[in-house]
Amino acid sequence: MRNPVRRIARTTTTLAAAGVLAGCAYNEDLGRSQFLLVDDAALAGAAEQAWGEALGAGKVSTNRAAIARVERVAKRLIEAAGLGDRPWQYVVFEDPQANAFVLPGGRIGVNTGLLALARTDDQLAAVIGHELAHSVANHAAERYSQTAATQTALQVGQAALGGRMSPQTAQAAAAFGGLGAQLGLLMPFSRRHELEADRLGVDYMARAGYRPGEALELWRTMAREGAGGRPPQFLSTHPSEATRLAELERYLASRGWLEAG
Ligand SMILES: [Zn+2]
Repeated sequence: MRNPVRRIARTTTTLAAAGVLAGCAYNEDLGRSQFLLVDDAALAGAAEQAWGEALGAGKVSTNRAAIARVERVAKRLIEAAGLGDRPWQYVVFEDPQANAFVLPGGRIGVNTGLLALARTDDQLAAVIGHELAHSVANHAAERYSQTAATQTALQVGQAALGGRMSPQTAQAAAAFGGLGAQLGLLMPFSRRHELEADRLGVDYMARAGYRPGEALELWRTMAREGAGGRPPQFLSTHPSEATRLAELERYLASRGWLEAG
């Protein structure tokens, strides 16, 4: 498998193997609490491994113009998202599939296929902003936690009460290896997560000085390509059904960003 994102899915098994902490955390960017079973250290470990595998599996581009474009756009969005206080790495993968990803810990990967699809920097900003939003919002960890919690509600409860993982919980966590992979970054995000990422993403775009209305244009282009029988890889993990686009359009209009776009 040459797709780095697909590889990343496997490494989420390390989330299951890593220390499990149950807790509700308030996410300021989302304005809501999240139930998270994985702590930052476990997430960072999984991201580290995923990044290594992505670099090993993909063909890293040396195209200076392409790398500079990604860096130029991503840096503005990172500042807008309040994440400029840490070092970031930007890599372009020689891959015709339109896709991009952001990993916790400051890593951004963009395929050449997406750079071709996103005709303007505003449109590239739409995808990177959306991916940054998923990362800021801890969506992968939340999805993993929710599913794991329903599977092991009892054990997790015991672990939370006791402050330590019971042998049963440890066993259950280990058993999640396979499930963890299925729940990895390859899994489609829920409608709620997509809407949150769409809104946060265009917020970042506006703050960074990009035209948020171009996000709609980019997702429509993707949807059109999908209708043509060659769905961009991005769509397999980020469903772009009509309702999602309609919701985004409503949000853009409510912020007065459609006319400006
Ligand atoms: Zn998404």
